[in-house]
Amino acid sequence: MPPAPLRPEDLPTRITRLYFRVLVPLLVGIVCWTMLTHPVSVPTLAFAGLLLLIAAAHQLLAPRWEWPLRLVATGAQVVYVLALALFGEQLGVRGNGQALSIVLLIAPMTVLAWSLLFSDHPRVGRVFSLALSLAATLLVRHWDNVNAQPEPGTAPLLLVVCLGTALFGWAVVRLQRRLLLGERDARRDPLTGLLNRRAFEEADAGPILPGVLAVLDIDHFKRVNDRHGHEAGDRVLRAVADVLLDTVAGCGEVYRWGGEEFVVCLPDTCAVGAPALLERVRREVAGRSFAAGQHVTLSIGLSRYGRGRPRRAAFASADAALRVAKDTGRDRMVAAPESPDLLPGAEAGAEEGPSPAG
Ligand code: GH3
Ligand code: MG
Ligand code: MG
Repeated sequence: MPPAPLRPEDLPTRITRLYFRVLVPLLVGIVCWTMLTHPVSVPTLAFAGLLLLIAAAHQLLAPRWEWPLRLVATGAQVVYVLALALFGEQLGVRGNGQALSIVLLIAPMTVLAWSLLFSDHPRVGRVFSLALSLAATLLVRHWDNVNAQPEPGTAPLLLVVCLGTALFGWAVVRLQRRLLLGERDARRDPLTGLLNRRAFEEADAGPILPGVLAVLDIDHFKRVNDRHGHEAGDRVLRAVADVLLDTVAGCGEVYRWGGEEFVVCLPDTCAVGAPALLERVRREVAGRSFAAGQHVTLSIGLSRYGRGRPRRAAFASADAALRVAKDTGRDRMVAAPESPDLLPGAEAGAEEGPSPAG
């Protein structure tokens, strides 16, 4: 089963989840490991405990807590490193070879992780990354004067590495967002903003709830173009798309299949009222006078999908039903033979014959 497509707006939530599930426990593990071989420092123990608590809270609390937890987790790390740099000896944390190696490894890794973590608030991410880079540099610089004795030049080198990884992280996030936005555009029809055929085919490949599929075609649309020009035709297409979106209103998906053809999928509970809802669309379009006084009507074919029947198969049946609607006078709705329950009278619609475009 292919994974659900990733939307650009999902990216920060996914990265935050990874951060709290993977990086924070890793950081806590490293801190605890250093305490196995060195005297336990109470402030360090409290710091590790606080980070674990935040990670657990992220698992348990509602999504609205995600942002404050992100701020507290990153803020706590900056404060802890800064406190070590300024009052390390009083806090019982002495610089030694192991502590120095850990800072040199963890600081650039954390700065990179934060560039990704704040992909939705890059300014906040920049402030935290810069603050941690400076605090870690101060700490290493301080240990230079005590007993860890890093090589001369290690502190400025750490600052350069931290800033370099931060820049790399921001560039990756920018690229990823552009890629995802491009992917989203590839699933949209640029004229109407509706989903397109590619989106339909991708959705069909995933799990689907049973529902009703309708194929809708504007009658004699060529006449609108011929009489009023393609610009007017485009305006009619956009207006019909708006009627469809307004009527379906979150109950299902609307696709522009191509040209003047649309597909509506009404899954699950929405399927119950599908014929009535589509009949409302047909009446609404037929009763409207579009921008330059054009009048158009819709022919509609209906079929059912789900329970082993892919939407693609329902599309073929609904398209055949649409042909019947066209052949029997247009401006009407016809159900596919295998879904007769969709329309008790098999046909509903206008009594009059073909309705020319106005
Ligand atoms: P029928 O009732 O049998 O469906 O007749 P029709 O005229 O609607 O169908 P036909 O397939 O003969 O013509 C469809 C027209 O739709 C032809 C094409 O120029 C027009 N069309 C397709 N895409 C667009 C578009 O994006 N904008 C405009 N303005 N016209 C389009
Ligand atoms: Mg048509
Ligand atoms: Mg057509």
